Amino acid sequence: MSRRPDIAVVGAGLAGCEAALQLARRGFLVRLYEQKPQARSEAASSDRFAELVCSNSFRARSLENAVGLVKEEMRRLGSFFMAAAARAEVPAGGAMAVDRERFAAWMTEKVQAEPNVEIVSGVVDAVPEGDFETIVATGPLTGGRLADYLRELAGSGYGELHFYDAIAPIVDAETIDMDKAFFASRYDKGGDDYLNLPLDEPTYRRFVDELVRAERVLPREFEDPKFFESCLPVDVLADRGPDTLAFGPMKPVGLVDPKTGKRPHAVVQLRREDKAGTAYNLVGFQTRLTYPDQKRIFRTIPGLEHAEFLRFGTVHRNTFLDAPRLLDRQLRLRTNPRVLFAGQISGVEGYVESAACGLVVAILSAARLQGAPIPPPPPETMLGGMLNYLATPQDRFQPSHVNHAMLPPPPGRKRGSERKLAYAERALAALERWVLDNAIHVLEPEA
Ligand SMILES: Cc1cc2nc3c(=O)[nH]c(=O)nc-3n(C[C@H](O)[C@H](O)[C@H](O)COP(=O)(O)OP(=O)(O)OC[C@H]3O[C@@H](n4cnc5c(N)ncnc54)[C@H](O)[C@@H]3O)c2cc1C
Repeated sequence: MSRRPDIAVVGAGLAGCEAALQLARRGFLVRLYEQKPQARSEAASSDRFAELVCSNSFRARSLENAVGLVKEEMRRLGSFFMAAAARAEVPAGGAMAVDRERFAAWMTEKVQAEPNVEIVSGVVDAVPEGDFETIVATGPLTGGRLADYLRELAGSGYGELHFYDAIAPIVDAETIDMDKAFFASRYDKGGDDYLNLPLDEPTYRRFVDELVRAERVLPREFEDPKFFESCLPVDVLADRGPDTLAFGPMKPVGLVDPKTGKRPHAVVQLRREDKAGTAYNLVGFQTRLTYPDQKRIFRTIPGLEHAEFLRFGTVHRNTFLDAPRLLDRQLRLRTNPRVLFAGQISGVEGYVESAACGLVVAILSAARLQGAPIPPPPPETMLGGMLNYLATPQDRFQPSHVNHAMLPPPPGRKRGSERKLAYAERALAALERWVLDNAIHVLEPEA
């Protein structure tokens, strides 16, 4: 191997790529370890870096929304994730969604072309030896024996496998019966970005009955599954009661079926997977059903009678640290500050949050490597709020998407949308001050 790196990153996923590029473009030599192509996690289907393993959505775009705000903060800090998202964007109403192939291809090319990044392929089972820091960004499906190694390194409280997520199926657009579908976004927000399949009440009831009786994949390690509440499988929702789905992912609110002029009893929404619209994912239809039962039962949805499934839904594990107990404010391991964490393994949740975490950890690490450490982003910023959440002790720590509850309330008595915009205005002003006060060099990812 060549000369000693300034810092190592393990995992070329969303957090790892962002961190590696941020550090390399600031002049540090980064050794980036990635298990692909030798090994892949159970959810991965390509050898590209920064692979989106499930949905192609980066969620809401609006500044009124916490995830919209964190994306804007990232953009203002010169995030590579945001630059890739802008290049690969596909229409998705009020949400930001991307063509996953283009997104990952751009990120992979950037990392591979970066002279200050040395890529080392192979499964990492232990944090690399050497007198340099290592950012562990191996994600929720950390491979090899690394999870066991980290458990020992962290001492007690390594919170692994605390809950399970599930992924939704994708169907070939050509096999959807478009005569039974209509394009619309809820409340006309975003035009024709979603394809809707309406269900009348008897069809909906039969569908739910089938789900309740369906065969599910329950390998031993899933015997006591703890799902992320906002990403529950459709079969779990069906078990909760006959109307739960009609108030959840199949809710018909804000939609009118042009054929009847009425709101349907329930609806299945499909979102484009790529710009050309050759494939659609079933929004919110993550599931544990066996593949044959997915095919049989989802084909009872009007419009999907002859659907070809390009990917079936699955359940996956999620490995993460009990961050408040184990990490300091710079996301270094308390028992061994040479080891840092970024991305989902550090206790954040979601694509955007994982990349945001990689961005902040890299900026803080760069300052430390330069001998001039800086404080984390202020608590009024969404990035600061996210880090505060990771530092707030809880009885049973659970990863979380960003939300406004992570921020101190804004002054005044504003309500609703005005209040949310007040959060955003204050956050962006605080971010600007943080950048200026700490002389943070903001990169230009496209350069
Ligand atoms: C199945 C599944 C579906 C998900 N769906 C969504 C979704 O729809 N929307 C959403 O916002 N979030 C979703 N998440 C959560 C999360 O946002 C993503 O997992 C996200 O990719 C996490 O980013 P990351 O950078 O932390 O890890 P990853 O993007 O997973 O990157 C980790 C990288 O580390 C590599 N690696 C792992 N172990 C080793 C090792 N031992 N040695 C070397 N390399 C290693 C992997 O190959 C990978 O390239 C999902 C998670 C899973 C597992």
